[in-house]
Amino acid sequence: MAGQDTGAAGTDHASPFEFQLFLGGEFGTPDWVFTQQAPPPQVNWLGWPLAVWLGLVAVATLLLIGLLAQRQIRRTLVPLERLTEGTRRLAAGDISTRVEVHSKDEFGNLADAFNDMAARLGAQFHALEGLAAIDRDILSSASVDSLAQRVLDQLKALYPEAEAVIVWQQSSRVFRRAVLWQSGKQNKTVFDVRDVACDATAQAQWSQLQRDETVPAATLARGHAHDAPCLRSLMPPAADWVALLPLRQGEVVRALLAIGLPTEPAPGALHAAAELRDRLAVAFAAQDRQQALMHQATHDSLTGLLNRHGLHQQLGDLLAPDRQTPNLALLYIDLDHFKEVNDSRGHATGDALLCQASDRLRERVQADALVARQGGDEFTLVLPQADAATAQAVAETVIRAMSEPFHLPGGDFQVGASVGIALCPQHGRVPDELLRCADIALYAAKAYGRGRAQLFNPTLDTEARALAALLADLRQALARGEFVAFYQPRVRASDGVVSSAEALIRWQHPQRGLLSPDAFIPLAESSGLIGPMGQWMLEAACQQMADWRRMGIIVPRVSVNVSALQLAPGQLVGQVRAALARSGIAPAALELEITESLLVDDNQSAFAQLAALRDMGVTIALDDFGTGYSSMAALRKLPIDVMKIDRSFVTDLETDASALPSVRAIVALAQAAQLHLVAEGVETEAQARMLRELGCQELQGYLYSRPVTPTQFLQVPGLRHQPPAG
Ligand code: C2E
Ligand code: CA
Ligand code: CA
Repeated sequence: MAGQDTGAAGTDHASPFEFQLFLGGEFGTPDWVFTQQAPPPQVNWLGWPLAVWLGLVAVATLLLIGLLAQRQIRRTLVPLERLTEGTRRLAAGDISTRVEVHSKDEFGNLADAFNDMAARLGAQFHALEGLAAIDRDILSSASVDSLAQRVLDQLKALYPEAEAVIVWQQSSRVFRRAVLWQSGKQNKTVFDVRDVACDATAQAQWSQLQRDETVPAATLARGHAHDAPCLRSLMPPAADWVALLPLRQGEVVRALLAIGLPTEPAPGALHAAAELRDRLAVAFAAQDRQQALMHQATHDSLTGLLNRHGLHQQLGDLLAPDRQTPNLALLYIDLDHFKEVNDSRGHATGDALLCQASDRLRERVQADALVARQGGDEFTLVLPQADAATAQAVAETVIRAMSEPFHLPGGDFQVGASVGIALCPQHGRVPDELLRCADIALYAAKAYGRGRAQLFNPTLDTEARALAALLADLRQALARGEFVAFYQPRVRASDGVVSSAEALIRWQHPQRGLLSPDAFIPLAESSGLIGPMGQWMLEAACQQMADWRRMGIIVPRVSVNVSALQLAPGQLVGQVRAALARSGIAPAALELEITESLLVDDNQSAFAQLAALRDMGVTIALDDFGTGYSSMAALRKLPIDVMKIDRSFVTDLETDASALPSVRAIVALAQAAQLHLVAEGVETEAQARMLRELGCQELQGYLYSRPVTPTQFLQVPGLRHQPPAG
């Protein structure tokens, strides 16, 4: 083999044979120089000169080196290329990418690491995508059901071996359980969600699920803390281990994520599941917040009842066009005299009253009724499946409930309520229409005298408007001097001599003419005008007596009708005393007519006032007797002297055979109670004769005279005059 000998190149021996191998460019080594120092002896080997052999060896070596180099290059470049390509695909977002390098060297290790990383990234991307989808659901206010499904889907992807269940509290007694079933046949996943009733024990156990824990499934079935039969039925059915991941809001366990596993999970293995549970917690919190906002927007903050908006919404649902039109009743309720509480006792007391009123409403109606506060002292009830009779009955119940005293700071207070009723479908099929009709009916109920229920009818609107106009006029009537007193004589049954006169009010209306009391007394009573009006009448009657006295006309007594409402403020005694004093007539010349309604409710204040008046010498008469429910016992309690048989009995005497025994019974009652008996509405001689025979002491009616003006009264038959003095 030739040696490397650069030093030999400088000797005297000229070199006849020398060649150079240029390796520098390819292999980075200095070029090899082959030199023959002496003329080579002709050495042959195997017949060929050695120089030829040398040349062949050199060429073979070079070929070997080239082959080796090429193989080395291929082994390095291909895996590198695949890794580069894989990285590029990963960077482009293809997280399913894998690199195929199966060598056992560094490249193989690198590829394994790459694939591992890609798989992890893939899982993480998937998880993030799942969480993002859940977040989107939360933001779009998806139902808890659909969120549960998404979380379960996600869990299935994360833990293919596991069986997950999500349970949450639907109401105090009902849980809702969501699960994914792997349907056997097509290996399809079925989402199943249903309500499960839960007892108090399960409730108690449920609230003890305060921390994350993994327990052997067997302990769930055996006397463990979680061993409530109901709770157990909520768990994943076939699993050896169960991870319990409760979702708490403060101390309250709102939901539970239970994961059944074949083996005990490694520490940290359920991290992703816990993260999903936390997402679910966000969803519940968002849902709660939304519900709170919804509640706030649709409910009255003072009473907790539905507000106007909430009622409209729920009534709208009930009356939705795509549903069958229901039979329902809408009751519009307005408290009477609420303003007085607010004005006299302040708004805090008014609020307390409204709260009590709303409680009474809620207690008095069926569970499916809608109860709303429209604002102020107005409430609405919607009764599903109610006809006119049911609505009327509920309205009466409500009116009774509202008339009971309210116990308030600073003392009890009595209000009362008026109710307007509208029916679906008779009066309307949409909320606005029904509300409008009920409102009109309410308006009429108030105009006709409060404390009553009024069913809507189409004429009510005009009637109510007319009443409102009349009320406006009535408020002016007293100041304008439009009231007029008429008098109707009462005669002695025995001889027809005028023994008394009943004062009956009339209203000289500037446009409508002379109005009878029936047209305006209820309005005066409901508006509170009855007080001043009654006082005017009392004064007028006493003055009239004084006038007759001066004129020498003998009318022993004048009787004035007194409404029960005039007794309520407790000022009647003072008013009577003042009227007597001003006119100068004796108390014995005055009679007050009250009605039986005073007897019905045990009105102690009214009794006391009447007793005081009677003690003064004023006569008290019980008007319209027989129309109420007075018993003997009640009659004895009332301080009265005179009983007036109602006109209806008198009218029937001639025509209805049953009237006679009734009148007989009334006469017996009056005699037993030692009352002076008067019959009113006597129109015929026959009636007069029968009443006289039955034992009535005084008679009043058209037979003797209609109610007339004071001037006309002077012409009444049986009226006696004082004999001229001297
Ligand atoms: P009332 O106290 O029962 O008065 C008797 C009513 O019967 C009067 O009607 C009278 O005109 C009517 N009447 C009398 N005799 C006959 C008869 O033979 N036949 C018929 N058909 N009717 C007869 P009026 O004047 O229209 O009064 C109606 C009611 O208005 C009274 O019934 C009374 O409750 C009330 N009223 C009248 N004036 C006053 C008043 O000043 N204050 C109060 N609070 N109520 C009054
Ligand atoms: Ca009367
Ligand atoms: Ca009467």
